[in-house]
Parts: sequence; structure tokens; C-alpha cells
Amino acid sequence: MSQCLKVSKKVSGVEYAIRDIVSSAKYLENQGRTINYLNIGDPVQYGFQPPENVKQALIDAIKKGSNFYSASEGIQELREAIAQKENSKGLSIGADDVLVTNGVSEGLDMVISSVVEEGDEVLLPGPYYPPYASYIRLRGGIPVEFAVDHANSTPDIDDIRSKITPKTVAICLISPNNPTGSVFEQNSLKKLIDVANEHNLYIICDEIYDQIVFDKKFAGIGKVAGNSPVIILNGFSKVHLMSGWRIGYIAFNNSPHLELIRENLPKLARVRISANHPVQYAALESLQGPQEYISKFVSELKKHRDLVVKRLNEMSGISCSNPKGAFYVFPKIENNRFKSDKEFVLELLKQKNILTVHGSGFGTKYGSDHFRLVFLPNMEILESAMNKIEDFMH
Ligand code: PLP
Repeated sequence: MSQCLKVSKKVSGVEYAIRDIVSSAKYLENQGRTINYLNIGDPVQYGFQPPENVKQALIDAIKKGSNFYSASEGIQELREAIAQKENSKGLSIGADDVLVTNGVSEGLDMVISSVVEEGDEVLLPGPYYPPYASYIRLRGGIPVEFAVDHANSTPDIDDIRSKITPKTVAICLISPNNPTGSVFEQNSLKKLIDVANEHNLYIICDEIYDQIVFDKKFAGIGKVAGNSPVIILNGFSKVHLMSGWRIGYIAFNNSPHLELIRENLPKLARVRISANHPVQYAALESLQGPQEYISKFVSELKKHRDLVVKRLNEMSGISCSNPKGAFYVFPKIENNRFKSDKEFVLELLKQKNILTVHGSGFGTKYGSDHFRLVFLPNMEILESAMNKIEDFMH
């Protein structure tokens, strides 16, 4: 066979800036450089670990023999505990409304596959977490970004209204947000629900950073959902420090408008058989065991955030709004002396051995002229990274 076999256009077009940029860093590493990775939103890679009782729950589940496929929807005990968690955030659901997935990523794929057809439009907050656009495009849909005032954490409702067309099927929300850290307040969430209801749209709400907030108590969509067609995506990779174990969930609000998707989406859960079975017991323990590890993690992150935001704002040529949640900053590059934000990021890597992610990787419309940096590393590493970025900006 002389010719390379073709792949689908949809797959060859998939991009994931956060990981794609790593090849440039690996190239330099192979030449003997030590790279400071500030690109990946994985707390466990920066030294945070799930607590011992959660690790033990995984070991016990394996030793007790839970090494077979679980029910496709997930184990009952975990579904119940998840429903309880979501109810404490304002929903009123039961175990049957929960479907356990191999991470939010798989849940997102299932939801988008169930909702989007060729030519359908899905509204996303700009800038957006890249897999949202990838999964929408893979299903033949069109991601449409709406404006958000990230300094004040408010979605631009007029902009959203102006972008709704007969082809729009859903509004996606990510709060706390990746990459900007903005957290929508309840009054904004209520307005978003109202717009979605006026136009018969799904509201797909990713709350994977729900307990990582710094300045105010988290107010999720649950409190204002009523009986609107809200689908929550959430998981254990961030708050619960279980990123490598790949566990998450979909929770359906109690809404008559969700009847069809509730009937059909579980078919996708069945064709992929089940989520990781023993890890489900660890997830259960992480919800039911002591919770102090989360507040310790968040108060540590708050110190990191304060340091990074202060230092970045002291640099000439950079302005940075204060993230209210998650563990990212998304500074603006004022008067970029390089051709693009990607070139800025590659030069920062080449000159200072610091890997960040170019803002345009989170959507060119609202992400360009920015870069994303994670503040998960310890204070010493962050101080040193800030010194290097300051040098670079001179
Ligand atoms: N959703 C958001 C907003 C994220 O930032 C991430 C990871 O960075 C994910 C989902 C991925 O979640 P999971 O590890 O559960 O697949």
C-alpha cells in the first residue's frame, strides 16, 4: 500500500492547545533544559494528593474484588451521594437523575453527542475550555462564543440574545471558569436561565471547580434552576484531587423538558459499558469522608492567587483580573511585541523556560492577546516564575 489512509476531516481538525503546546517544551527538555510547566490544570501533578482515606477506599475496592464492569449508570451508592451533593447546592434530584462517567470529559462528549446535530449552534462563554468547541465540531455543530465581562464575572446577556438563532440548541456555562476564573453570581445565572427558557435551549453547566472559590461562597445554578432544562457536569479531578482516576458525572435537573435526553443519553453510557468501577468507591469516600483537605487546598491556592495577581499587575505590559475561583489567571498582554499571543508564549518558553498556554487556544475571538497560567505550583516556584516573566517583559 503506497498511500496513507485518510482520516475524517472532523478528527484532523481537533485541537487542544493546553496539551498541543507541550511538544515545544519537550523539544527544549530533550536539549537539556529544565522547563517550568505552568500549563496544565492538574493539581496532582503539582504535589497535591487525594487524602489517605480516599486512596484506601480505592485499594479496598480492588482487594474486595470490585474489578468488574459496574452498572452503566454507575454504582447506586455513589449516584445517591452525588444527588445529595447537588441537592445541597439547590437542586432537588434523586440517584436516578445521576449518571457516573469517566471524567467530565466523557460526560461532555455524551451530552454534546445527544444534543447537537449537523449545523446546530451552541453558545459558549468566550474564552472557553477547548474541548467544548472540539466536541461540538466533532458532531458537526458550530460553537458560538458570547462575551463575558471577566473582571466583574458577568455574562453579556444582550450579546447572548443577539447570537441566538433558530439553529441554537444549547447554552454552555463554566462557572468557576477555565481559563478566566470568573464565577457567575446568582442573578446572572437567573438571567441566563430566563434567556434559555425563552428560546427552548438546554443549559449545560460545568461546575467542576465548584468548591474552589476564594472570595465568596459558591452559588451554583442549582439554586435558580427551578424546573428548567439544566444539565450539570461535574467530577472529581479538581476539588477532590483525583484527576488521573478519571471519574465524573452528569446530573439532570428535574425538568419535563429533559425527558427525551434522559431516555436516550443512557444508551451512550451502555455502549461504553461503565465508568471505572473501583474508583467509584473512592469517589464515594471523597464525598462522605472528612472534607478538611478541600478547605486546606483552597486556602493554599488563595495565597498563590494573591501572589500571582499582584506580581503580574506590577509588570509593565500585563494586566490581570482577579480570578474568583479555579486555579488559573488569564492575563492580557498589552502592546504585544510579538506577532501573536502564541509567539509570546513560545518566546517566554524559549527565553525563560516557562510554559504557559496562548489565549487564542481558548478561542480567538476573546482569547487572543492573553495567556493562561496555572497557579498550582508552590509559592517558591511561583515567585521564581514571576521574576522570570518580569524580566521577560522588560
Ligand atoms: N471541564 C473543565 C471546565 C475543565 O477545566 C476540565 C479540565 O481542565 C475538565 C472539564 C476535565 O475534567 P475531567 O478531568 O473530569 O475530564
